[in-house]
Amino acid sequence: MSTSTPSVFSKIIAREIPAAIVAEDDRVIAIEDIEPKAPVHVLVIPKTEEYANVSELAAGDPDLLAHVVATAQRIADERADGQFRLVFNTGEAAGQTVFHVHAHVLAGELQEGTLA
Ligand code: 5GP
Repeated sequence: MSTSTPSVFSKIIAREIPAAIVAEDDRVIAIEDIEPKAPVHVLVIPKTEEYANVSELAAGDPDLLAHVVATAQRIADERADGQFRLVFNTGEAAGQTVFHVHAHVLAGELQEGTLA
């Protein structure tokens, strides 16, 4: 679902607001989460605004979802011996605050009581 207002992530992709960029290609950008919940806490974000959450992405573009997962694996290989958690908060009640699909890549010890 696209929205009329650009998401905070679209503004980062457009370089309208700054972010610590970890990786980027034509389909995704990976940035450091501004409020990290673990020693490695990177967000992998499809550049398209078309999908609000992972269910929409899986239904609409499964290849792009696979690319998000492969990007997460590559980041974990580089920064955390290849082992990681992948979290997609889906819906407000599940803690989603930005309705532009993104994966949290988490590695190392998480802050107590949180998944992302
Ligand atoms: P959600 O709660 O939607 O699953 O995750 C949104 C994530 O985006 C949160 O972990 C939050 O810290 C992160 N975030 C929100 N605004 C910004 C920002 O401007 N820059 C960065 N790097 N991360 C952000």
